[in-house]
Parts: sequence; C-alpha cells; structure tokens
Amino acid sequence: MLRLTLDVDDVLADTHEKLVNIVLNDFGTTLTEKELYSRALRELLHPKQLTKLHRIINTPGFFTDINVKKGAVETVYKLSKFYEIYIATACMEFPNSFKDKFDWLHKNFPFIPWTNIVFCGYKSIINSDYLIDDHVRNLVAFKGEGILFSAPHNLNDHTFRRVSSWNDVSELFLPIV
Ligand SMILES: [Mg+2]
Repeated sequence: MLRLTLDVDDVLADTHEKLVNIVLNDFGTTLTEKELYSRALRELLHPKQLTKLHRIINTPGFFTDINVKKGAVETVYKLSKFYEIYIATACMEFPNSFKDKFDWLHKNFPFIPWTNIVFCGYKSIINSDYLIDDHVRNLVAFKGEGILFSAPHNLNDHTFRRVSSWNDVSELFLPIV
C-alpha cells in the first residue's frame, strides 16, 4: 500500500477560520473577512497583533473546537481503504497544543490509530509517498510527492500540484467507482 501523509492545520482542520474569527471579534480590526481570507495573516496583521495571536494559539484548549474541513472525515475514511494513512503535524512550535490535537484527531478521525500520528518539527523526517500540506516549506523539505492544499497563505505558489478541497483530494487519490 502506498503511504499518504496528511497535515492537520488548514488541511484536516479549518484553523484559519478560527483565527479569522478571533481577529474579527476580538482584535478591533478594520480588515474585512474577505481580506483576512485573501493572504497570509502574517502579511495582514501588525507584529503586535501577531504576538497576541501566537499567545492565543499556544493557550491550552485552542485546538479543541476547530472545525473539521468539509468532506475531510468521509474522504480520509475512504482513502484509508486504499492507502496507509499517516498524520503529521508540525506542532512543536506550540507545545501546549499536543493533548488538544491528539484528542481532536481521536474524536474526529477515530479510525486513524495512534500508531499513525506523528507530532514533528521539520517534515523532512517523514517517510511517505505523498504529503498533503498547506505550507510550501513543508513540501520543499519532504522527499516524496508534495501536494499543496490551498490556503490564504499559499495562493501564489505554482511549484506544487494543488488541491483546493477534500473533493479535489478525493478525485486525485481515489479510484473511480
Ligand atoms: Mg498546516
């Protein structure tokens, strides 16, 4: 079986949506929702706002209520019949997120065993045929074939094959039934 590795934030989980809601509701910003989905928050927010957001992300509980991306559960379940599925999340930057993320994965993707979940730093360590990720830097470091999942911070990249939804992933990886 080919091995397919999936990122969590902005691939399985709609992390950007949660961040945008925090900025809109708690930051007193003049940016519109549309603008907040148009490019990287790091390009849109003031450095002080980014520091504040970083602190919020590292608060225990931040990851517990993030929405699953539409179609992710069903598609990953179907993919698990044809591929060896691994999860790789570069969460070392936010050590308080470990337990939240593990619980979130267990709750939403109970069919993925703990043996196939990797909490890592650089994704160059991942040995897999494919990696689906929203960060170009992770795909560059990866040795298999990288697939870029569209997110506001990667819309200008043309280096990698791109998917924009779980429906796209399904079309790319699942056999025609
Ligand atoms: Mg990600």
